[in-house]
Order: sequence, then C-alpha cells, then structure tokens
Amino acid sequence: MRNIVLFGPPGAGKGTQAVLLKDKYNLVHISTGDVFRYNIKNETELGKLAKSYMDSGNLVPDEVTIEMLKAEVENNPEAKGFIFDGFPRTESQAMSLDQFLEEKKEKINGMVALEVPEDLLIERLLNRGKTSGRPDDQDEEKIRNRFHEYETKTAILKDYYLKQNKYFGVDGVGSIEEITSKLESVFDTL
Ligand code: AMP
Repeated sequence: MRNIVLFGPPGAGKGTQAVLLKDKYNLVHISTGDVFRYNIKNETELGKLAKSYMDSGNLVPDEVTIEMLKAEVENNPEAKGFIFDGFPRTESQAMSLDQFLEEKKEKINGMVALEVPEDLLIERLLNRGKTSGRPDDQDEEKIRNRFHEYETKTAILKDYYLKQNKYFGVDGVGSIEEITSKLESVFDTL
C-alpha cells in the first residue's frame, strides 16, 4: 500500500491536487473536511456535531474525527492506498493514525506538504469563497481563526513526520499543472 498524508495550511491546494493524484496512483482520497460537509448537508448526527466547530473555523474534536476517519478507511477494504487530505491535524490524530495502520500491518509512506506563503493563501481562500459556498471561506475572521488553529495545533506535525524521515516539502506556488508535476516526482519515490 501507498499511504500519503497530503499536508499544508488552508488554501494550499490539497483538495485540488488530491483529486488529480488519486487517479494517477490509483489511491482512495479521504478528505475529512469533505466528509464533514457531506454529513452537514445530509443533517446526520455527525454533521450536527461538526457544524458549530466548522462554522467558526475551529477543529472538530479529535475523538469524533478519528472515529470518522477509521470508518472511512474500513469502508475501502480493496484500496491500494490512501491520500489523507486534511487529516491528521493534531498530534493525537497522527498518533492514532499510526497505531491504526500498524494494527493493519500498514504505515504512512510519507507526508507531502504544500508550502505556500500566508498572503497568497488568504487571497486564494477569499476567491474560493465566492464560488465554493463554504461559509468558512467567506469571512476573513474565520479564515484567520483557521490559520490560528493550523499554527497552534497542526503545524507541529511537520516535526512529527520529520523525526520519522517522512516529511517532503513541495513549493505550492505556481500553476495547478506545475504543482501536480512537482508532487508526482515525490509520490514516485514513496
Ligand atoms: P478543510 O476542508 O480541510 O479545510 O476542513 C474544513 C473544516 O473541517 C476545518 O476547519 C475543521 O473545522 C474541520 N476538519 C476537517 N478535517 C479535520 C480534522 N482532521 N480535525 C479536526 N477538524 C477537521
């Protein structure tokens, strides 16, 4: 199996790139943000639980997110591997993921991180907000809160994977195609 964490701050392009890469490498793409949005739209219990956190740009609690992620993996027993997009976002999520994969005699092959300067991220998110219908993309204060969550809880995961020699940074500035091809040169080695 090839299991890759596609990493980067909000607006880095993870979702866009994951959709392109999953086909090329025959991987299952799991976006925890997409799963939460689907549940909110369908008014499930999980959706009701996640909504208030997401609307204000806060992280959904770990227990809820981890259980949901495990269920998504279990729902794909034939997968050749996964692209995890938007997960893990805390150290506890990363540790749970490692343990969960280990129980299956699997592992994370690498964390591939899109590196983009913050002013460009905010511009991209506000632009996306005009068409995505995502409330958390339309308000600069919510966007700032998402960055705050990222900086205080998520950014440390770089060290977590660096310590395991599994961190691969990729310059996330440029056209979609340019960035895809840079990501492919890393994916090919994993
Ligand atoms: P995203 O689509 O990845 O930008 O995620 C949108 C929102 O979903 C985040 O701001 C969080 O509220 C929630 N979310 C997505 N993934 C996670 C995660 N791994 N842990 C906690 N909250 C998450």
